[in-house]
Amino acid sequence: MTPRTRPLLLVTIDGPAGAGKTTVSRLLAQRLGYRYVDTGALYRAVALAAMDRQVGAADDEGLDRLCQGIHLALTVTDRGLRLILDGADVTDRLRGREVTAMASAVSARLPVRRFLLTLQRALGEARGAVFEGRDMGTVVFPDADVKFFLDAAVEERARRRHAELAEAGRPPLATVIEEIRQRDRNDSSRQLAPLKPAADAVRIDATDLTPDGVVERMLAHIDVLT
Ligand code: C5P
Repeated sequence: MTPRTRPLLLVTIDGPAGAGKTTVSRLLAQRLGYRYVDTGALYRAVALAAMDRQVGAADDEGLDRLCQGIHLALTVTDRGLRLILDGADVTDRLRGREVTAMASAVSARLPVRRFLLTLQRALGEARGAVFEGRDMGTVVFPDADVKFFLDAAVEERARRRHAELAEAGRPPLATVIEEIRQRDRNDSSRQLAPLKPAADAVRIDATDLTPDGVVERMLAHIDVLT
């Protein structure tokens, strides 16, 4: 059978922290031969820059100046997707708990969202990409070709996040559950671009699915929808 050729698509995956979006987006992008863009890494990089320059999470003027002055780029290397902040690869500094909490705080601020909205739309101009985040299908790319909302039970999301953290200094699982609940509350209750499924998103519950299982479901939907 000749494989069907379809136009290059823009696929979005939104969902709460720890639902497996990053792993699934990478796998799905691989299967489709697309780029994948981890937009959480962009928020984390702004948070890191703010921490390094001692700009507070509620200092909108300071955050605005910061955003005007920094340069962010995502590049693919043989070590995977890397985040370059002002010419330096900061990927390995983005996943700590402090940066995570700061990213959640700065992502509620207008100057930061405005700055990253422009950047993300520029990155999406060339189709053939999987974008993952919180507001990809609702705000950044309302016209995306295929939208997914990936969720999982909070305990399962916390268990995965806990397993990812380095053993040294790892907090108890109960603390990670509370941190994830706090991030869910921040992400869903903020005024700007709150986390919610787009009306036309396909919802997938990943609690009992492997990443490959999620990707198979997504590919099946993409076949039907396009
Ligand atoms: O996905 P990740 O956990 O890396 O995202 C870090 C933080 O960035 C999230 O807690 C969320 O507050 C924020 N974020 C966002 N919008 C996006 C992606 C991430 O507000 N599109």
